[in-house]
Amino acid sequence: MGSLKEQENVEATKCVWVHGPIIVGAGPSGIAVAASLKQQGVPSVVLERSNCIASLWQNKTYDRLKLHLPKHFCELPLMPFPKDFPKYPSKYQFISYMESYASHFNIVPRFNQSVQSAEFDPSSEIWVVRTQDFVYISPWLVVATGENAEPVIPNIPGMELFHGSIVHTSVYKSGCEYKNKKVLVIGCGNSGMEVSLDLSRHNAISYMVARNTVHVIPREMFGFSTFGIAMALNKWFPLKLVDKFLLVVSSFMLGNTNHYGIKRPKTGPIELKLATGKTPVLDVGQLAKIKSGNIKVMEGVKEITRNGAKFVDGQEKEFDAIILATGYKSNVPTWLKSCEFFDKNGMPKMPFPHGWKGEQGLYTVGFTKRGLHGTSSDAVNIAKDIAHKWMTIKDKSYCNSHIVLLKNS
Ligand SMILES: Cc1cc2nc3c(=O)[nH]c(=O)nc-3n(C[C@H](O)[C@H](O)[C@H](O)COP(=O)(O)OP(=O)(O)OC[C@H]3O[C@@H](n4cnc5c(N)ncnc54)[C@H](O)[C@@H]3O)c2cc1C
Repeated sequence: MGSLKEQENVEATKCVWVHGPIIVGAGPSGIAVAASLKQQGVPSVVLERSNCIASLWQNKTYDRLKLHLPKHFCELPLMPFPKDFPKYPSKYQFISYMESYASHFNIVPRFNQSVQSAEFDPSSEIWVVRTQDFVYISPWLVVATGENAEPVIPNIPGMELFHGSIVHTSVYKSGCEYKNKKVLVIGCGNSGMEVSLDLSRHNAISYMVARNTVHVIPREMFGFSTFGIAMALNKWFPLKLVDKFLLVVSSFMLGNTNHYGIKRPKTGPIELKLATGKTPVLDVGQLAKIKSGNIKVMEGVKEITRNGAKFVDGQEKEFDAIILATGYKSNVPTWLKSCEFFDKNGMPKMPFPHGWKGEQGLYTVGFTKRGLHGTSSDAVNIAKDIAHKWMTIKDKSYCNSHIVLLKNS
């Protein structure tokens, strides 16, 4: 029965020649490329697995999330944030900006199209992109599925025994569900710290596991964004000196985080971010809660038990719920076939600023480890490059619509 259904599905698959590039992913990166292309007169088709744009922001982020960096570092090409938005827009404001952006450039992605495979066919020199419903073909493929496509779920011994809920931060919305509960947050990056803060503000009893080293720096120094200061200083001074400056001011403003169980890495915050993508935690009140004991910092978890967790320092505690702030990963290796451009973790092998362009009409956007700032730079480069090629195609009047249904394959 199952195989008959599969056969029927194969037969129902339709083949679509895309007039312009295929863009996989309707997050900020995919939409920014589509808009930048449109501005150059190049049509495109955006394929999105979910049913909305910016689905990470709409569906997988917590309510209290605000942009970590000031808005001018996070705007997409060709359209600034509204003037009345605050310096650090909320996630709802960011989503409304994304919706206005897509509608301003009339970008209408094809929703519920989950790309299952994409492969370059050298004989015809086209990309063949398969979703559950269609086969799309084009000379250009833009990978815009993001550095955060799938949650990372660690395999901690005993997880299956735990009596309460274990959820990833991608499904955490607000601490109001956890009032008066004892909650263990595993992970101490920006998400882990902010979720711990949110829990504590909702009167949950919050424990946070800080197994790895992490830089905590103030979001602002002397009234200016720390990130902005770092970028400005780096124009004049070597990165190591900039990092040194950030660390001296951070320890002056926040104290020695080692005293509270948050150990600093040996490499400086910006150098580490650029080399590994590991973002420093921008303090928006978390450290004060840690200092006051409202958020308790624990060393690594040894195992989860039925009622709680055992820690590497020998302590054992009971919890009502566990939240995994264990990050995300790229999903490119699961669907992009026979492609040497990406490493096994689904990140371009070429470091910034060279990672946006591969061979044979392949492009990538949003894999710079630099957040939305990197997205803008990639999108502009890609649009210029494709527009140049597009202009050289003499016979591009072979269809009027930018999607043509060729045949049932
Ligand atoms: C909690 C959180 C807070 C963040 N805060 C900031 C911040 O303040 N500033 C900043 O610059 N960055 C921030 N980031 C990083 C953020 O992910 C990016 O800045 C931004 O969302 C990247 O956009 P993107 O389009 O590259 O990826 P995404 O937003 O992840 O979009 C990728 C899209 O591709 C789709 N997709 C994936 N696989 C497939 C497939 N096989 N087929 C079809 N579609 C697919 C996804 O559904 C998604 O819609 C944050 C990330 C998180 C998780």
